[in-house]
Amino acid sequence: MEIIPVDDHITAIDHNLLGIPGVGVSYLVRGESAALIETGTSPTVPHTLAGLERLGVRPEQIDHIICTHVHMDHAGGAGYLAAALPRASVYIHSMSIEHLADPARLMASVRRAVGEEAWALHGDVKPIPVERLRPAEQLRLDLGRDVVLEAIATPGHSPDHLSYWDRRSGGLFIGDAAGLVMDRWGLYFPVTPVPTYNLRAHRDTIAMLRAQSIPRIYVTHHGPHDDVDLQLSRAHERLEELVGLVDAALDDGAPDVDALAARYLPYPDDGPAATVARSWSRMSVAGMIRYELKQRQA
Ligand SMILES: [Zn+2]
Repeated sequence: MEIIPVDDHITAIDHNLLGIPGVGVSYLVRGESAALIETGTSPTVPHTLAGLERLGVRPEQIDHIICTHVHMDHAGGAGYLAAALPRASVYIHSMSIEHLADPARLMASVRRAVGEEAWALHGDVKPIPVERLRPAEQLRLDLGRDVVLEAIATPGHSPDHLSYWDRRSGGLFIGDAAGLVMDRWGLYFPVTPVPTYNLRAHRDTIAMLRAQSIPRIYVTHHGPHDDVDLQLSRAHERLEELVGLVDAALDDGAPDVDALAARYLPYPDDGPAATVARSWSRMSVAGMIRYELKQRQA
C-alpha cells in the first residue's frame, strides 16, 4: 500500500490491485464528511483500510463509497468495504445496482472476460444489502468545506460508466473513460472489454471530454495527471489504432486475438505487469472484435 498525496482534500491510496503497485487506486475525498471513490477488488480492501488507518480516518467517518462502473477492479471490493465501513452508502449507476446486490452473474461474466490467469487475482465479490445501494447517475454530493462531487455520464468502456467532477479542484475522477495511464509500467491504452464495450459511445465520450479543458484527471489506473490534453489525445489515437488493427483482421477473415493483442501492446513475457498487460490487451481486442462484428452483422 502506498499513500499518494493529491490535493488538500484528495488522497490516493494505491491498494496493490492484481498484486502489484502502480496499477490501481482508491481516492479518499474529504470535506466535513468523507467519500471513497473506487473500491478495487476484494483482495485490495485490506490495503485500502490500512491506508485509511494510516491517514487517521476511522471507518465510521466514511459516509460514501462511489464506483465509476461495475467492473470488478472498480466495484468488486465494495461489499467487503461496505462491511468494514458501517455508515457508508454505496453508489453506482442504477443499471448495475442488481449486480452488487447479487454478484453471481457479474463474476461469471468477468471470469470469461479477463481469462483464467488474471481471474485468479480478482477475488470474490460480497453481496451488498440493497438498502445500502444508491443510484449514482444524478449524484451531487456536498461533503462540506466546498467539496462537491457531481456525476457525469461517460459511457463506452462500459454502458454504466460514470465519472465524477470534483468541483473544488475542477478535476475529474475519470475511472476508465480515457483508458490506462500507468506511468510506472509504461502502459497507455484504452481498455475496450467484452462483453458490453461500445465504440460509438466511447468515441463520443472522449470527444466530449476533450472539448472541456479539464485541468486534471484522477485516473483509477493510475493516479492524478495534469497533462489532460496529452492523455485524452493519446487515448483517442490508441483507440483508432485498435479499430484499424481489428478491422483489417476482420477483413482478412478469422482474427487471432492473441496475435492482435501482441501487436497492439507489445509487452515482455515476464515482469510484474505482464499479466495485467496481457489480460487487458486480450480483453480489449476481444471486445473490439465483438463490437465490430455486431456492427457488420447489423
Ligand atoms: Zn472497467
